[in-house]
Amino acid sequence: AKSSGRNRLSWYNRRLSEELSERVSLERALHRALGHDELFVVYQPQIDVLSGQIIGAEALLRWQHPERGLVSPALFIPIAEKTGLINAIGDWVLDQVCRQIAEWDQQGLNVPLVAVNVSAQQLGSEQFADRVLAHLIHHQLSSERLELELTESVLMCLDDANACMRRFADAGIRLAIDDFGTGFSSLAYLRALPVQRLKIDRSFLMEVPGNRNDESIVRAVIGLAHNLNIDVIAEGVETELQQQFLHQNHCYAVQGYLHGKPIKANDFAAYLRRTSPS
Ligand code: C2E
Ligand code: CA
Ligand code: CA
Ligand code: CA
Repeated sequence: AKSSGRNRLSWYNRRLSEELSERVSLERALHRALGHDELFVVYQPQIDVLSGQIIGAEALLRWQHPERGLVSPALFIPIAEKTGLINAIGDWVLDQVCRQIAEWDQQGLNVPLVAVNVSAQQLGSEQFADRVLAHLIHHQLSSERLELELTESVLMCLDDANACMRRFADAGIRLAIDDFGTGFSSLAYLRALPVQRLKIDRSFLMEVPGNRNDESIVRAVIGLAHNLNIDVIAEGVETELQQQFLHQNHCYAVQGYLHGKPIKANDFAAYLRRTSPS
């Protein structure tokens, strides 16, 4: 028994050092990725279920590693955040997205807004607000075309979130609270920040309809948004039944595999041409 315990321990140590060297090698590779066209942005449609129209898209980052293939953002974003590389990467994402919106406009394709995920380090950086505005100006876009998605963990990291947030609000850039309800202080942030939209986290919808508690939470979040006179959208909508539940409870904006997975810009343009009446 003792020797098997020791074996297990060395197995555990081996796993640990494997994970560590894995992280270090990903970290090095990520430094290269940005300059070598290995990163790209995919777009997932946001739909108004009443009209069936596309009301926007969420931009999600992808990394095509030359040997490993596609690396999940859930794996590499935290590494980019720890190394500070997220500032350069996030800035690149904003430029890509603004360029893309302008291109779709030129092609006569209607994408009212694109939501971009923002990390704490980005919001904490002095130049961030200026950079966002500079990208909009450079691509000649009005500010309401962009929405910044902030999770509560991002907001938690900031001491002067307010000042930064006010600048965005004054400039007309939309702010959304992502994964709403998963943090501890959603309501406090909602009270303090000029937010235009709540995004109901996928975890609350996974057992809806069916789970009475989750149903109540989803209804309460929708009601909260309505009472505060802000928009609400549900993420991770995979089934007709989920969508029906949302519809019955007056949440008409949805995003999820039911309508489409995140896809490359070209495929998104083709999708727009297919789905929008001309
Ligand atoms: P998130 O912001 O909560 O994004 C939603 C995630 O759910 C995405 O995963 C999306 O592909 C996935 N998803 C969308 N619809 C469905 C559905 O119907 N069912 C299921 N099961 N999943 C769905 P993804 O693309 O792997 O991104 C993971 C996370 O990585 C994001 O979570 C976000 O926190 C982060 N991330 C992605 N791109 C960026 C970025 O450009 N900057 C920053 N800072 N973070 C990013
Ligand atoms: Ca998001
Ligand atoms: Ca989310
Ligand atoms: Ca989520």
